[in-house]
Amino acid sequence: MSRRIQVFDTTLRDGEQSPGIALQPHEKAEIAEQLERLGVDVVEAGFPGASPGDFEGVRAVAAAVERPVVAAHARAREEDLDAAVEALAGARRSRIHVVIGTSPIHMEHKLGLEPEEVVEQARRAVAYVASRVDEVEFCCEDATRSDPEFVARVGRTAVAAGASVLNLPDTVGYAVPEQYAELVAVVRRCPELRGVTLSVHCHDDLGLAVANSLAGIRAGADQVECTVNGLGERAGNASLEEIVVALKVRADHFGVESGVDTTQIAATSRLVAARTRYAVQPNKAVVGANAFAHESGIHQDGLLKDARTYQIIDPADVGLRMTLPLGKHSGRHAFAKACADRGVVLAGEELNAAFRRFKLLADRGREADFDTLLEGVIA
Ligand code: MN
Repeated sequence: MSRRIQVFDTTLRDGEQSPGIALQPHEKAEIAEQLERLGVDVVEAGFPGASPGDFEGVRAVAAAVERPVVAAHARAREEDLDAAVEALAGARRSRIHVVIGTSPIHMEHKLGLEPEEVVEQARRAVAYVASRVDEVEFCCEDATRSDPEFVARVGRTAVAAGASVLNLPDTVGYAVPEQYAELVAVVRRCPELRGVTLSVHCHDDLGLAVANSLAGIRAGADQVECTVNGLGERAGNASLEEIVVALKVRADHFGVESGVDTTQIAATSRLVAARTRYAVQPNKAVVGANAFAHESGIHQDGLLKDARTYQIIDPADVGLRMTLPLGKHSGRHAFAKACADRGVVLAGEELNAAFRRFKLLADRGREADFDTLLEGVIA
């Protein structure tokens, strides 16, 4: 029996914090509806205390979705917490995600608080909202640069005050997988936190967000926070599609499943890219334009015989198709098939001659589609 992981999507909160993105409330609602079709468990809709527009965005998401929990971000301050409660009023199931820094750097240089004061603020903030929303998630900001024992202590305090989810974020993308797994394991071992949902939330400053998230899941996390297309502050958050597909393709290793309908991944990625105007890089895992494109002749020949030779993900599983673009690296097998697909059946010396002419044209690296090239080679 595999373990079920909760997928907490924060495209509309942390993803939206990418420079230059300002989703309108109706756009947040549209994306949230697609996230519901995708099958995420929690939609973090925004930070109502940040701006009137974000308050309206959270309200719009709360009204738009039926099944997922709707979460709103808040600092441990009454004005943020009040705004979050109000913005979530229309949600079927509401969650406040309350955050306070627990690392020496954050406590001393950002908050100007002693550790004891941080513990007390955490307790007070959770107690202030616990009875006003369905659930409270407490977040030890910068957990990976915090003392794990202190994180566990703040976590126990928040849970005693009414939090049911505890987030251990790698806020600045500093962790490496083994270290992150150890942090999750230390907190997981606390007897007082046994029934709590532990959450991982990783950033990609060192390109390790997905690896760290997966290490945290292996170490006992129950929830993973991630974004569509890996959007997010600075280098971004852990990519939802990469985590979900890794758990599926390597179920043998992880023994964990999510509620995500992977066939909705491509449509979700396209919608988010269009509304945020953040294009997906061509070589991005899972959703990049080239994720299932094979140009080299050796690979094309193998794929035409059996796609498993060079593909570990079935593109149909994520709503995409394999393509065999033809270029200077391509081989005769794929060339002949592409010609045949266009009604031009070539064989023997005729095929060889056309293929030689095609290679000469392709070597020039001209940007042309295959149909244009074909006119030049089968004249
Ligand atoms: Mn974050």
